Amino acid sequence: MSALYKTSALVLNSTDYGESDRIVNFYTMDYGKICGIAKGAKRSKKRFVNSLESFSFVKLIFAKKQGAGLARIDQCELIDGFHNIKKDLETITAASYFVELLSEMVREWQRNTKAFELILNFLRMLDDGREPETFSRFFEVKLLTILGYQPHLDKCTVCKYAPDADTIIYFSSAKGGIVCKRCIKPNENKIPISAGTAKSLALAARTNLEHLNKLVLPPLVLKESKELLGNFIRYQLGKELKSMKFMETIG
Ligand SMILES: [Zn+2]
Repeated sequence: MSALYKTSALVLNSTDYGESDRIVNFYTMDYGKICGIAKGAKRSKKRFVNSLESFSFVKLIFAKKQGAGLARIDQCELIDGFHNIKKDLETITAASYFVELLSEMVREWQRNTKAFELILNFLRMLDDGREPETFSRFFEVKLLTILGYQPHLDKCTVCKYAPDADTIIYFSSAKGGIVCKRCIKPNENKIPISAGTAKSLALAARTNLEHLNKLVLPPLVLKESKELLGNFIRYQLGKELKSMKFMETIG
């Protein structure tokens, strides 16, 4: 017996399978990440009209047998295709990064409605023309926070000293946050940053999505944020993401 499930979902990615099928990874509102097969999707375009492309927001019905690996995609109806994202290489790259990062950081069948709403809202904001570079940093810091990996950015993780705005401090991925000049060890793996960068990211983590566009990250803050968050994410995942490498090359 297979159970039938109905939920909203985002298409993370999809690939052709065999003569006529597609394998699709979804992030669903009610069941977390699931992987399914859309039988005949390559042959019958009518059945899944544009709804299996990356970043599509869809209404999904799928069936899943107990113990079976893949779900069977029965219906997938497009709600929003975020078509503006697909008009520009920089926004496509940012959106690809969002879905890859989320996909790597969550497990299958683990519901997290906050993470679902976050990615949906960030794709919407990209589609509405928000600046991809800045919003990639906001997405990283928000997603890390929601999934329980929030970097500690307010006080030194060793002595709890709150650095003044214009001092140089360090970010240590192993310690999960900032370390002041007095506590940092010479041979420790660290990234020097300005205290202003730590403050800006801590503020972004606390700011509601509707107010994020009022937060401006100056060029130095943007540069340091990219380096420290990239380093921290690599440390957490134990690997480099494909879309992150691609972003470096189009840089
Ligand atoms: Zn310290």
